[in-house]
Amino acid sequence: MKIVVLDAGHGGIDSGAVGNGLKEKDLTLEMVKMIGKGLVDNYSEVKVIYTRQTDVFIKLDDRSDIANKNNADLFVSVHINAAGDELANGMEAFYFKDSKATIITYNHIMNEIEKSAYKVNNRGTKIGNLSVLRNTKCPAVLTETLFITNKANSILLKNQKFINDVCLGHIRGIATFLNLKENKLVNSPSPAPSIPQKSEPANWLKSGGEYLINDLGLDKNYWTWDRPIRAGELGAVLAKHEAHLRELIKNAKQD
Ligand SMILES: [Zn+2]
Repeated sequence: MKIVVLDAGHGGIDSGAVGNGLKEKDLTLEMVKMIGKGLVDNYSEVKVIYTRQTDVFIKLDDRSDIANKNNADLFVSVHINAAGDELANGMEAFYFKDSKATIITYNHIMNEIEKSAYKVNNRGTKIGNLSVLRNTKCPAVLTETLFITNKANSILLKNQKFINDVCLGHIRGIATFLNLKENKLVNSPSPAPSIPQKSEPANWLKSGGEYLINDLGLDKNYWTWDRPIRAGELGAVLAKHEAHLRELIKNAKQD
């Protein structure tokens, strides 16, 4: 089992960079959640730990401590850049002790960006004496996805497809560095592949949904075939199913 610590830069009273109607702390949180979900959905033998999953302030030392205490195999800190010069723009990433994880992750991110032909300046990977890179024991990556202070970059940061692509680059980079095994059941490259497309449901999913509604009498407005199910709901379904079977057996005996 490989352990990845995902660190959403800033949070709470620390907004990070702010510009063009965007806050760094919000973007970084959205991105780490997408990256974490993509890793867990697409790869086996990987555990994701977040330094924060809500809008809270976490001290820099606490972020690296989370990685060190959990014996992480990789620490990835996600940031958005900013500069006094509004013309500064582009993608870059930092390493401190060991450049390999950063270079691999960065190359995957740039690959996804180039595949979709976004106009993004490739600023490359650099050494950076940054607290979270310096204080984590495991290999550590810090990505700076575009400049919030640049107009053209901020338009891309508001583009959900661009964010998806950059997150996919992170996912593929992390998986490559850690040599993660891809789940055989999932073959979509999307970071959120676990929800099938609404337009073409697999027949067994459809008929499963119909069984819940027609045979178990569940509400058709709530129990649509394509929504995820929580453990409590699964219990309710199984109880309904058991009652349904008992009814069938009872009727069979009377016949
Ligand atoms: Zn930052």
